[in-house]
Amino acid sequence: MTKVLVLGGRFGGLTAAYTLKRLVGSKAEIKLINQSRFTYFRPGLPHVAIGVRSADDLKIDLSQALPEKGIEFQEGKVEKIDAKANKVIYSKPDGSASEEEYDYVMVGIGAYLATDMMKGWDQYGYSVCEADYATKLREKLENFKGGTIAIGSGPFYQGSNPKPKVPENFVPKADSACEGPVFEMSLMLHGYFMHKKMLDKVKLTVFSPGEYLSDLSPMSRKAVASIYDQLGVKLVHNFRIKEIKEHEIVDEKGNKLESDLTIVLPPYAGNPALKNSTPDLIDDGGFIPTDLNMLSLKYDNVYAVGDSNSMTIPKLGYLAVKTGRIAAQHLANRLGVPTKIDTYYPTIVCVADNPYEGFAVSVQDDTWYGGNISIAQPAAANHLKKELFTKYFMWTKGDMALEKFLASW
Ligand SMILES: Cc1cc2nc3c(=O)[nH]c(=O)nc-3n(C[C@H](O)[C@H](O)[C@H](O)COP(=O)(O)OP(=O)(O)OC[C@H]3O[C@@H](n4cnc5c(N)ncnc54)[C@H](O)[C@@H]3O)c2cc1C
Repeated sequence: MTKVLVLGGRFGGLTAAYTLKRLVGSKAEIKLINQSRFTYFRPGLPHVAIGVRSADDLKIDLSQALPEKGIEFQEGKVEKIDAKANKVIYSKPDGSASEEEYDYVMVGIGAYLATDMMKGWDQYGYSVCEADYATKLREKLENFKGGTIAIGSGPFYQGSNPKPKVPENFVPKADSACEGPVFEMSLMLHGYFMHKKMLDKVKLTVFSPGEYLSDLSPMSRKAVASIYDQLGVKLVHNFRIKEIKEHEIVDEKGNKLESDLTIVLPPYAGNPALKNSTPDLIDDGGFIPTDLNMLSLKYDNVYAVGDSNSMTIPKLGYLAVKTGRIAAQHLANRLGVPTKIDTYYPTIVCVADNPYEGFAVSVQDDTWYGGNISIAQPAAANHLKKELFTKYFMWTKGDMALEKFLASW
C-alpha cells in the first residue's frame, strides 16, 4: 500500500494528515512523526503568559488523537530527509536512530526559532512561542514590580534561491517572519497591567527588525502607530536584536534600548533537519521551495506545508492550514481520488486578542501582495470568535475541516 509520511504535528502537518485521511481513507497508510507526543494550540500561548489560560488547556496528545482517526503516530525527532533514497532519518525518544521509507512525504516541521542567535537569551530572554516559554513568562509577569518591558521579534533569515514556482508578488522580502503575536502581546500587556492597576509603573517599548508590521497596509500601520501613541507605547523600527542584558537590549549596530523584561519572538531560520537534508531539496535559507500545489521543485514525491515552505510569508497558522489542505488535495488526486484543489492566495489573516479589555483586533490584509483588502477592526465580537476558535481546535484535536466557518485566526 502507498505509504505517506507526514512530518510535524501542528497546523501544517495536522491539516495535511487529517485531510488526506478523510479523502483517501484506506488507499494509503499515513504516519505522522512529531518530536513530541504533545502539541499545543500556539495562538493561545500569549493567553497563558497573561494568566487567562493554562498550557494544559491547549495541549493535544497526538498519540491518542491521530490513531482515533486512523493515522499512525510516531514520536521522534527528524534528523534529515534523504530525498534521493525516499527515506526519513529520525531519532526515537530513547535516543536510538531509526529510519523510515516513504512513497510520499509531507514536510510540516516548521521553522527554527533561533534563540541561540541572541546572546543573553538563556539568562534574560522571555517568549510565548512554546508552552514552556509562555509558562515561564507568566511567572515573571506575576512577580514584575514595574519597569520597562521591550517586546519585539528577531530578524528573519529568509531564503531567496531557488525561488518557489509561484507569482513573485506572493513572496515579499520580510525582515520579520511574524509580528502578529508582538502586536497581540503589546495590547494584552496593556490590559494585563491595567487589570493589576499597575499601568503607571510599566513602560512598554515595541521594536521591529524592519518597519513594524510591514505586512499591513500603510493605513493599518498608521492606525497601529496612533493606538500606540494613545497608550504611551514607544515604537522602534529597524532594531535587529542581537543581545539581551539584564536592563537593556542591543541590536546588530550596537544601538541600545532600555528593558527590564525582554519578550521576543526569536529570529526565524530554516529548520536544522532540513538544512541537514538532501541539499537541492531546500533553498539557501533552509526552507523548501515548491509550486502552488506545495510540491517540491526537485522531488515530485515531497510536499512542504506551513512554515517549512519558502512561499509562506509571513509565517502564519492561517497559511499553514491552507497549504496543508492543498497538499493533501493534490496528493489525493494522485492516489486516485478525484478532488478539487483549492487555489493558494496569500492574505494576512489574524486576530490580536486582548482578553482583559474584552476586545480583539481582527486583521485581514492582502496589500503586501498587491491586493486591496485592508481591514483592521477592533470589536468585542472578535474576542469571542477567538475563544470559539480555540475551543473548536481543541475539540477536533487540531482537525481544521470547518476552518472556513469556525476559525478566527
Ligand atoms: C506565539 C505565537 C502566536 C501565533 N498566533 C498566530 C495566530 O493567532 N494566527 C496565525 O495565523 N498564526 C499565528 N502564529 C503563527 C503560527 O503559529 C505558525 O505559522 C504555525 O504554527 C506554523 O505551523 P506549522 O505546522 O507549519 O509549523 P509549527 O507550528 O512550527 O509546527 C511544527 C511541528 O513540527 C515539530 N517539529 C519541529 N522540528 C521537528 C523535527 N526535527 N522532528 C520532528 N518534529 C519536529 C514541532 O514540534 C511542531 O509540532 C503564531 C505564532 C506564535 C509564535
